[in-house]
Amino acid sequence: MKYKGRFGDYGGFYVPEVLIPVLEELEEAFYRFYEDERFIAELAQLSKDYVGRPSPLYYARRFSKYVGFKVYLKREDLLHGGAHKANNTLGQGLLAKYMGKTKLIAETGAGQHGLATAMIGAFFGMETKIFMGVIDIERQSVNVHKMKLCGAEVIPIEGGTGTLKDAINDALRYWTAHVLDTFYLFGSACGPHPYPTIVRHFQTCIGTEARQQCLEQIGRLPDIVVACVGGGSNAIGIFSAFLEDKDVRLIGIEAGGRSLSSGKHAATLVVGRVGILHGAKAYLLQDDEGQVHETESVSAGLDYPAVGPEHCFLKDSGRAEYVAAEDNEVLDAFGLLSKTEGILPALEPAHALAYLISQKGKLSADTIVVANLSGRGDKDVSIVEKRRPQAY
Ligand SMILES: *Cc1c(COP(=O)(O)O)cnc(C)c1O
Repeated sequence: MKYKGRFGDYGGFYVPEVLIPVLEELEEAFYRFYEDERFIAELAQLSKDYVGRPSPLYYARRFSKYVGFKVYLKREDLLHGGAHKANNTLGQGLLAKYMGKTKLIAETGAGQHGLATAMIGAFFGMETKIFMGVIDIERQSVNVHKMKLCGAEVIPIEGGTGTLKDAINDALRYWTAHVLDTFYLFGSACGPHPYPTIVRHFQTCIGTEARQQCLEQIGRLPDIVVACVGGGSNAIGIFSAFLEDKDVRLIGIEAGGRSLSSGKHAATLVVGRVGILHGAKAYLLQDDEGQVHETESVSAGLDYPAVGPEHCFLKDSGRAEYVAAEDNEVLDAFGLLSKTEGILPALEPAHALAYLISQKGKLSADTIVVANLSGRGDKDVSIVEKRRPQAY
């Protein structure tokens, strides 16, 4: 088990003894059910009826005209809940059901994953507890209210800094004591094995659809696939289908925050160093003593000081490239997509759009780019209003 779930030297299974049998049970169940015909059929049906798949691949004509090359958007923003998160919560929720679990727990930072889990908890009729830092509860009161509307209980975490990092630790601790009936629905393609593998699996639908849509709608594969990277789930979901297509460049965009030099950012792959957090070996934002940094960016959904192990591996191998976009560029990208296409992007995928804007004049007019629009921007309007009171 210790050697499973490795991506090169990354990932793995660095957890307290008590968690090992729990994660082994989960791993065994995942490998039992993910190829099970009944499981696959039920997941496909619910992905269509409840989540709203397949999502369109949309040619953004006016945005493309502005940047000077062809940009197609994978419209995960149109899914139930307004983001790609539902792919993962539905998949793991169904796995929980097949495992005979009746209760769900999850961590959340910005509240997006907590809400996506609360929705699925309501859908399956499972008692749901969401672990959330007290600072985040204060910052994200709308999402807290939505989770409660879906019947979930929000557990405030006082310890540490009152943010996502502490919520994960407490959720793992709670899980070890309640494993018989409880499933831990983890939010991104990181954490200990088998989560990076499980979450990747339930997000690969993004890439599989996008690749096929490119062939059908454009008649060829794209030159570049771009996605934002927080924990890494939407990016690995779209990258995974193109890994073997060596001519397709894969580019992940991290949160450069105020600036990389300010130290206030979440650009884990761009400037981090290898370490261990939340059970996995990965690039981390840490100081010389190995103390994990607080992250800071305009998009709460990218504020995580580690990153999924597969991205670490793809970075080292050179198969994918990772760069950072800064808050100001991201806010400009939010405005530009809204104005040119009538689509408000979430601030997370606005990082990917900011990168594309930075490539204006650098890529030839026939370049085809697929950008993963991982979520919609309604949740971010008040932040944008505060940071850009002059509008655009
Ligand atoms: C949560 C979130 C992200 C970041 O998470 P990943 O696991 O890196 O995908 C990105 N975009 C949106 C819209 C999100 O809600």
